[in-house]
Amino acid sequence: MKKACYIGGEWVETAEYAPLYAPFSGEQIAEIPLADAKTVEKAITAAEEAASVMRRMPAHQRANILEKISTLLNERLEEAAKIIALEAGKPIKTARGEVIRTIQTYKFAAEEAKRIHGETLPLDAAIGGEGRLAYTVREPLGVIGAITPFNFPMNLVAHKVGPALAAGNTIVLKPASQTPLSAFFLAEIAEQAGLPAGALNVITGSGGKVGDLLVTDPRIKAITFTGSPAVGIDIRNRAGLKRVTLELGSNSAVIVDRDVNLEEVIPRCIFGAFAYSGQVCISVQRIYVVKELYETFVEQFVAETRKLQGGDSLSESTDYSAMISPKETERALAWIEEAKQRGARVECGGETVGRVLQPTVLTGVPADAKVSCQEVFGPVVLINPVDTVDEAIALVNDSRYGLQAGLYTNNLALALQAAEQLHVGGVMINDVPTFRVDHMPYGGVKESGMGREGVKYAVEEMTELKLVVIKR
Ligand code: NAP
Repeated sequence: MKKACYIGGEWVETAEYAPLYAPFSGEQIAEIPLADAKTVEKAITAAEEAASVMRRMPAHQRANILEKISTLLNERLEEAAKIIALEAGKPIKTARGEVIRTIQTYKFAAEEAKRIHGETLPLDAAIGGEGRLAYTVREPLGVIGAITPFNFPMNLVAHKVGPALAAGNTIVLKPASQTPLSAFFLAEIAEQAGLPAGALNVITGSGGKVGDLLVTDPRIKAITFTGSPAVGIDIRNRAGLKRVTLELGSNSAVIVDRDVNLEEVIPRCIFGAFAYSGQVCISVQRIYVVKELYETFVEQFVAETRKLQGGDSLSESTDYSAMISPKETERALAWIEEAKQRGARVECGGETVGRVLQPTVLTGVPADAKVSCQEVFGPVVLINPVDTVDEAIALVNDSRYGLQAGLYTNNLALALQAAEQLHVGGVMINDVPTFRVDHMPYGGVKESGMGREGVKYAVEEMTELKLVVIKR
């Protein structure tokens, strides 16, 4: 199946193509266009030409188109889930969950399109401000460049396309090379939903090459990027005066205090650690348990982990499948080995069956081992004991990252203290950090990024505040 780029409402072939392989079977599933500089130029030009159309389009019409995208996606939910399961190796149950979220994200965008507004300002609060009416409006920026990762190929695209269109912008989207099919599927749906030609353009190809052209082109007014910290930081360094939103990685942690109900806590922690084999930016990577509960926690956690089913991402019974690539699997295995060398114990997992890395639980991991201080982005979790929640908060904060963190406790004072002291973008009390619904503000501090997504917040990032002052 040979795919084409989607530019200015047309499917455009390129000179070169690359094979796309399914992570679980290793079989070729498509041929993906490799956009060259001319193709990227064409996409940016199409987006720029469509910018005036989108800017003038009334809010109700933008909302209708987004609503229609949501409806059409709902009608094709199963087909969409299969695309994700195949190209991302995401278990079909989990892929279905992603599509359901994506449907909501476009719905939120449709609703948000109708409430983008400014405020009136009492200028007479300042000496010399009398006799003037002042108000602000939020205007679209124009062309947005969006670069997305492989792990949520539909919903993380929706978090960029939805708000961009809601605000009256146009967009050039470069999806991850491993998961372009979800983006092409969206282009098809957006066209059916009546989106004007050029408002959404999808181009595929090497991140370095295509990404660089988007990041440095002056016609693109903002870059919205979700992916690894290394690439994000590089983009920020090259983007000049462009707006830049960066949603990057983390080594998220959850703290378990005494007196909590482990029957509730452990299934959530297992979900947080191993959903989509830990390839989630807010995946639980570190668990700190107060020492009274530690042994019971580890024992029950390992027993429950062993019940998870590995296998083909297209099978209904699969809980975890192959990681995105053999290279990433090798990296995760090397990090597990490093932790072992440094004295960690492998409680379960730690090896592959076929292409599938087994859910791995480590104990006794030193804080400076890679599986603790860097982002594993694989099915690996460590559980370490702590004397107090205070100590755990310090360990959570001793990280380059700060996306989300969780604390299970029945102690209100401790919960409030943690909410204040945890240096992250989002604190989840009585839940794992792996909690996200699509209208909440979402983003990180430190190397986890800058700016916020969650439709309303992304709209703010993708609009310019303009002030109007009228002297009576
Ligand atoms: P990645 O390797 O950084 O790739 C992300 C995107 O950037 C891909 O489209 C990639 O294209 C492109 N890219 C690569 N090099 C580039 C360059 N030099 N200039 C511009 N673009 C470039 O990340 P990934 O492996 O797909 O995703 C995993 C990472 O994303 C993890 O760190 C995870 O935590 C993070 N993430 C964060 C969030 C969040 O909301 N905070 C959500 C999900 C994932 P190619 O595919 O062609 O290389």
